[in-house]
Amino acid sequence: MARARDPIADLRRIAFLLERANEATYRVRAFRSAAKALAGMPAAELTERAGNGTLTELAGVGDVTARCVAESLAGEEPVYLRRLVATEGSDLDAEATALRAALRGDCHTHSDWSDGGSPIEEMALAAVELGHEYLVLTDHSPRLTVARGLTANRLRQQLDHVAKVNAALPEGFRILTGIEVDILADGSLDQDDDLLARLDVVVGSVHSGLKDERSKMTRRMLKAVANPHLDILGHVTGRMVSSRPAGVTGPGDRGHRARTRAESDFDADAVFAACAEHDTAVEINSRPERQDPPKRLIRRALEAGCRFAINTDAHAPGQLDWQRFGCERAALCGVPANRVINTWSAEQLVTWTHNRP
Ligand SMILES: [Zn+2]
Ligand SMILES: [Zn+2]
Repeated sequence: MARARDPIADLRRIAFLLERANEATYRVRAFRSAAKALAGMPAAELTERAGNGTLTELAGVGDVTARCVAESLAGEEPVYLRRLVATEGSDLDAEATALRAALRGDCHTHSDWSDGGSPIEEMALAAVELGHEYLVLTDHSPRLTVARGLTANRLRQQLDHVAKVNAALPEGFRILTGIEVDILADGSLDQDDDLLARLDVVVGSVHSGLKDERSKMTRRMLKAVANPHLDILGHVTGRMVSSRPAGVTGPGDRGHRARTRAESDFDADAVFAACAEHDTAVEINSRPERQDPPKRLIRRALEAGCRFAINTDAHAPGQLDWQRFGCERAALCGVPANRVINTWSAEQLVTWTHNRP
């Protein structure tokens, strides 16, 4: 008889691949819930239940997930997993592939502390499996209530929690602390200065008043970019090029349920000149529904001398592999690896964020 595989690892792998393929959240959740339900079960009980068909009596385990478990235990790659692997294609050209290979971490990610779908530990494990050296955890700030933005107190609790999680993670990988802080209407940042100063990386984004009139939006962004705490300007135009698939709601989607949305209007040359002057990196956001900034603006930021961060803005573990989409667009615009801050080691990155002008 073939040696049993690890059924929990197979369930988690399926969830990851479904997320990466941008499949509906409820499908992903079926596999993550089953993995969670079975994680603590003794191997003997698992085998017995798979044998007599009683896995589905457990909360969180359905027919499909039970079949995957039975196949794993029988030493076969689950059919569901095999099909997923066979039908996913990565058709990146050489330059995009080289850029992706040069990335050592991700500077914009969310956990279930705000509107992400998974715990910090699960996000970190997925990042380790992708070969990252670090993951910057950037949950939302207080005013973004739809995304359960963290108050100053909850952020302090999160910092303590991250320190504990880091101690248990493999050598050579670490979670860096951070925030995706809202850029408020007047250009100030939605978190206490002392906390912003403590964080390893600060991403700042506009999430409200996206239809502000041009001069107002420009002033707002210029003020944020000049703020010494702001390291990365997130999803610069706020555009949405596609909506989420119909019927998709739930963890990971809160706050991101918008239909298509036009770019906000601002003086891009002035904003990119300020980014270059203050050494604030411009984010290339990899989310398929954002693709922000558009390529013509990536080119202008490059000409202005800006640095970039190619980020996923992942709200679930499988989305951490969306960096390849950002790399594809960056490569098309001729962005060289040496202008991309997440090609640096964690050490170099933190040295930069703490010593920027
Ligand atoms: Zn969010
Ligand atoms: Zn955002």
